[in-house]
Amino acid sequence: MRRNCGSLRLEDSGSVVLVKGWVQRVRDLGGLIFADIRDRSGIVQVVGGKELKDLRPEWVVEIRGKVRERESRNPEIPTGDVEIEVEEVKILNSSKTPPFHILDEIDVSEDVRLKYRYIDLRRPSMQKNLILRHRMAMAARKYLDSLGFLEIETPVLTKSTPEGARDFLVPSRNYPGRFYALPQSPQLFKQLLMISGFERYFQLARCFRDEDLRADRQPEFTQIDMEMSFVNEDEVISVTEGLLKEMFREAGIDVSLPFIRISYREALEEYGSDRPDLRIPYKIKNLTSMAKGGGNRIVESVVEAGGKLLGLKIPGGLSRKEVDGLDELVKSAGGKGIFWLKPDGESIRGNLRGDENWQQRLCESLGLEKGDTGIFMAGSGMEELMGLVRQEAARLKGAVEEDFKFLWVVDFPLFELDAEGNITSNHHPFTSPREEDIALLDREPLKVLARAYDVVLNGVELGGGSIRIHRADLQKKILKILGVEKERFAFLLEALELGAPPHGGIALGFDRIVMMAAGVSSIRDVIAFPKTTSALCLLTGAPSEVDPEQLKELKIKVISS
Ligand code: ASP
Repeated sequence: MRRNCGSLRLEDSGSVVLVKGWVQRVRDLGGLIFADIRDRSGIVQVVGGKELKDLRPEWVVEIRGKVRERESRNPEIPTGDVEIEVEEVKILNSSKTPPFHILDEIDVSEDVRLKYRYIDLRRPSMQKNLILRHRMAMAARKYLDSLGFLEIETPVLTKSTPEGARDFLVPSRNYPGRFYALPQSPQLFKQLLMISGFERYFQLARCFRDEDLRADRQPEFTQIDMEMSFVNEDEVISVTEGLLKEMFREAGIDVSLPFIRISYREALEEYGSDRPDLRIPYKIKNLTSMAKGGGNRIVESVVEAGGKLLGLKIPGGLSRKEVDGLDELVKSAGGKGIFWLKPDGESIRGNLRGDENWQQRLCESLGLEKGDTGIFMAGSGMEELMGLVRQEAARLKGAVEEDFKFLWVVDFPLFELDAEGNITSNHHPFTSPREEDIALLDREPLKVLARAYDVVLNGVELGGGSIRIHRADLQKKILKILGVEKERFAFLLEALELGAPPHGGIALGFDRIVMMAAGVSSIRDVIAFPKTTSALCLLTGAPSEVDPEQLKELKIKVISS
């Protein structure tokens, strides 16, 4: 009877089974030969004579034999109590020596792993990750289906959907000089589906963003994309929380609901990040009101110019070397560096110069006790740099709890200024402002808050969404503020005038969610065929040059730079 290698147990003793799989290893103990056979379910030992002699690692075989109890049991593997006494061996294929062993603890560079990804994916940990990915996708589909969501596909060859990145373009052969864009997200199509009356949509959608290369980004990635009609923020949030709970359950992780919600402002002021890691117990304190009268001219002038004085308590303190390291970190991130104070019994050490009394008061207001270190920064827009310090100091102190800390960040500003000082969307141009802020749009657009929400886990943004604009006049106004020509979204504006219901939704980064649930540190470990951090596919060699004939058909000329 055909059995999976990993399924055999003591109760199978005596039965004749057929297993098919790959040879993991072969040991010849002078006539008695042992081989480990591996398939997706696990590994089983087979034992025989010369019929096993020629087998080599990664050969593909079919083995028939009788299951029996093993003399020396192996408690390390689930099939460790049994072995198969070989009756017949069929070689289905041989294999060259693989570039690395199929073991979890192999020491091989990621480039080699990615070049031979099909071999890498044979490793148990990679099999486990992709099986978990499948289970989480199934759990998502099942949950959303149970709530009446419909899975509807949207086009991949489409028009630009702005999410703040560059588009990947696909030239059209039939219309030379014209291009499709690959979707940065299905945003506009899902809104159109609400206008079509489907009420609840979802899709495990591939999205494409030609962003500058960053360590844990992929040019293509998968979103669990959702949209609902006639909802408010609370409804989208509660469906999403339920979804995450169901998905994490597949990894044996119990997620407790509801998640806490904090405003964007609070996130920035207290944690120095719009995606705070709440496993870290430290909070940033605003000490601006104490900046004056302490005899420190630098701090005073910063505050006079509208800046702030921020403080952070590091319980248990940092060494001089660690403080210097944090100072370097801040400088390399574009900051001016940090100040520190450390109460040391009688005196206070540190480089935040000033009256002793003032230093004392600063230490007290941070709650510093003997041996703790207080880190201080003075300036404008220092929050995010202090956020970096918070994170790095917690890492140094081993103060990052082992936990899953979910939260929602809400009350984002609708707009922000880009590096050139132009007004841009904080999320995307289809996000609705809060009703009570609409009057501010003309006067003080940067003060307008959005009906947007991001879900964050342990410092990682898992996804975000918003209630959308469903009225054409408001959408036109927002496009105007952003300086986007309304012709570009004429189809949307027309649709909004043809019976658009109020609607909202969210998209979750599926790869990141699986990464967190699997407990791995790279999204590449949960994607079957990822690209490198330089956006290359080492397996196929993409992107590659194309045949000049193809370019001719497309009427494209490549100008070498
Ligand atoms: N389209 C958005 C994104 O990809 C998500 C959303 O607003 O639903 O980030």
